[in-house]
Amino acid sequence: MEFVYEANPARVIFGRGARTKVAEELDRLGITRVIVLSTPPQAALAAEFARDIGHRAAIVYPGAAMHTPVEVTEAAMEAVRSLNADGILSAGGGSTTGLGKAIAYRTDLPQLVVPTTFAGSEMTPILGQTEGGVKTTVRSMKVLPETVVYDPDLVMSMPLALAGTSGMNAIAHSVEALYAKDANPVIALMAQESIRALNSALPQLPSMEAWTEALYGAWLAGICLGSVGMALHHKLCHTLGGTFNLDHAGIHAVMLPYTAAYNRAPVSGLYDLMRKVAPKKSLREFGLSEADLEHAADLAVKNPYYNPRPVTRDGVLDLLRAAYDGGRPQ
Ligand code: NAD
Repeated sequence: MEFVYEANPARVIFGRGARTKVAEELDRLGITRVIVLSTPPQAALAAEFARDIGHRAAIVYPGAAMHTPVEVTEAAMEAVRSLNADGILSAGGGSTTGLGKAIAYRTDLPQLVVPTTFAGSEMTPILGQTEGGVKTTVRSMKVLPETVVYDPDLVMSMPLALAGTSGMNAIAHSVEALYAKDANPVIALMAQESIRALNSALPQLPSMEAWTEALYGAWLAGICLGSVGMALHHKLCHTLGGTFNLDHAGIHAVMLPYTAAYNRAPVSGLYDLMRKVAPKKSLREFGLSEADLEHAADLAVKNPYYNPRPVTRDGVLDLLRAAYDGGRPQ
C-alpha cells in the first residue's frame, strides 16, 4: 500500500436549520461587509440571507450563471468594490459557488457557501471559468471556501428532475475517485459511503430523511472531487457540456453508467439508478446527432490524460453510441 493523502481544510456545519447559523459563522470569519451571491431565480433566497445577517452591511448580486463567464465575474467585482466587501456569501448550486470562487481567486476574500444542489463545488479548490466561449480550469487554495453550511431545508426546493441529475453528478465524483490515479484509502471510504447514501436516498426523494441523506452523500462526494484527480467520465462530460452547451448535471447522469462500464464492466446498479432518477435517459434525448458523437470522440482523445483503461477514439465512440441509444451498458 502506497499513497499520498492531503486534506483540504474547511469548516462544515450540517443539519436541518443550519442556515440560521450563517450570521454566527460570518462573525467567526471576521466578515462585516458581505457580498451575497445567487443565480437570478434564487434572488429571493439571497435577499433573505442579506436580511438575516443583522448589523453587517450586505449587497446582493443575483447574477451567477452556468460555467462562470468572466463578464459576470467582472460585473460582480464592481459590486465587491462598491461595498469594499470583506467576505463572500454564496447561496446556491455550482454556478453560484463558481462566481464566489472567481471573486475569491481575484481578491482572496473568505467565502461562506450555503449549497442548494448536490454539485459539490463548495468542497474543491477548483475554479472553472469561461471567456470567449473557452472554459479553463484553475486549481488554487484561494478558491477553496473557508466555511460551508449544509442545510437539507435548502435543497428540498429542487425540482425532482434537478435533484436526480445533481445527485448522479455527485455519484460520478465518487465513482471516479475510486479509480483515480492518486486514489487513497481515506478518500475510498468517503467515496463508498457517498455512493451508498446517494443510491439509497435519491429514489426515496422527496422524503425529508432522503433529502438529508442525499446532501450528506453529496458533501462526501465533493470532498472526493476536491481531493483526487478525475478521469474519462469528467473529461467526456466536460467536452460534451462545453461543446454542445448541454445541461451540466443532466449529462453527468446519463453518461455515468456508460463511462463506468468502459472502465469496469458491467455496472448495472448505476444504470438502474439513472433510469429511475434522470429525466433524460439517453444522449439522443439531448438532441445530439451521429456526427456530434464523432466530433466528441475526436475531441475526447485530443489531449491524453490518465484513465484506468486506455482512452481510444473507437472505444469512446462505442461508449457514446451506447449512451446515445440508452440501452443497458454491456
Ligand atoms: P446550477 O448552480 O447551475 O443550478 C441549476 C439551476 O437550478 C439554476 O437555475 C439554479 O438557480 C437552480 N437551483 C439551484 N438550487 C435550487 C434549489 N434548491 N431549488 C430550486 N432551484 C435551484 O447547477 P449545479 O449543477 O449545481 O452546478 C453546475 C455548475 O457548477 C457547472 O458550471 C459546473 O461546471 C460547476 N461545478 C463546478 C465544480 C468545481 O469543483 N469547480 C464542481 C461541480 C460543479
